[in-house]
Amino acid sequence: MQTILTGVRANEEPTIGNFLGAYKSMVNLAHEHAADSNINMFVPDLHSFTTPIDHSKLYAQVIKGIKYYIAAGLDIDNPNIHIYRQSHVPAHSELAWILDCFTPFGEASRMTQFKEKSEEHSNAVTVGLFNYPILMAADILLYDAKYVPLGEDQFQHLELARNIGIRMNNKFNEELFTIPAPEEEQVKFMHLEKGLRIRSLVDPTKKMSKSSDNAKSKISLNDNPAEAAKKIMSATTDSEGIIRFDMINQPGISNLLTIEALLNDRDIQDVIADWAGQTSYGDLKKKVAQTVESFLTEFQEKVAAVTDEQIEAVLQKGEEYANRVANAKLAQIQRAVGVRK
Ligand code: ATP
Ligand code: MG
Repeated sequence: MQTILTGVRANEEPTIGNFLGAYKSMVNLAHEHAADSNINMFVPDLHSFTTPIDHSKLYAQVIKGIKYYIAAGLDIDNPNIHIYRQSHVPAHSELAWILDCFTPFGEASRMTQFKEKSEEHSNAVTVGLFNYPILMAADILLYDAKYVPLGEDQFQHLELARNIGIRMNNKFNEELFTIPAPEEEQVKFMHLEKGLRIRSLVDPTKKMSKSSDNAKSKISLNDNPAEAAKKIMSATTDSEGIIRFDMINQPGISNLLTIEALLNDRDIQDVIADWAGQTSYGDLKKKVAQTVESFLTEFQEKVAAVTDEQIEAVLQKGEEYANRVANAKLAQIQRAVGVRK
């Protein structure tokens, strides 16, 4: 049975970028494949403090992350859907150490996200921040996951996970790990033309990020819906004066068209066609603002309906599964590297 796996780091409040790039892709794939695939949706909570956070809020944020997975539409009664916390499956960190020792320093140093994040947090660049893509490789390889629905920003890390897996398989002359599909295949599997990157509302040349300090740049999932609508109304656009999908020259407008299409489950080409030739950026913003406002209103109602009992039951079942699968894989790797008979 193939495995489809993804996770969203619990550090700050997730954004609609996370919702569209990770949650929604996963929910759609679960609808399509849960009958004959494992659907692993975990909270990478050990990744949460690779950059500084308020630790007193972390536990609640992790539980909220689980609520969001359920509210986004994962069917928790399906026996093939597994929700778990990385920190509650110790094999993740165990395998990460082993993978560290098979990852050339130079290769890990090429990760562009490390470079960007260490500039952003220049007073707190930790070994953990450097190492996080290798823990991410362990998260994926432990479960033999073939498909990993991710936003565009994570494809370099996925490539690293593939390289590490291929290197280990070659070194030990054994198929220790299933190698995750390459980027093009992942994108096709998600029914996309290319990797998804929702842009910042303030600077649409950058991606929307939950850790951004600028609240205006992002729509967080717990934003007041009316306030969120205002953020859309004041989103940065351009002075071309015509509505066109052109990520290079009109990234702000193209971002709004993308959000409009995806939140309404519509084909992006149809939305582009609806607006072709129109010139009022105000009208487009009003429409997207309404879409975002009703999306948040409905989503927040669904979040409020998830109970503590559901979360407890889901984690118990999910973490039992995850430990069983991950420990078996870890034992296989420990045998290969020679620390277990
Ligand atoms: P941070 O700023 O803390 O890194 P983030 O918003 O980048 O937060 P991550 O936890 O790093 O979120 O990523 C979780 C998932 O969400 C990944 O699959 C990532 O590719 C996806 N994702 C993040 N931002 C976007 C975005 N703007 N558009 C599409 N997908 C995104
Ligand atoms: Mg990120």
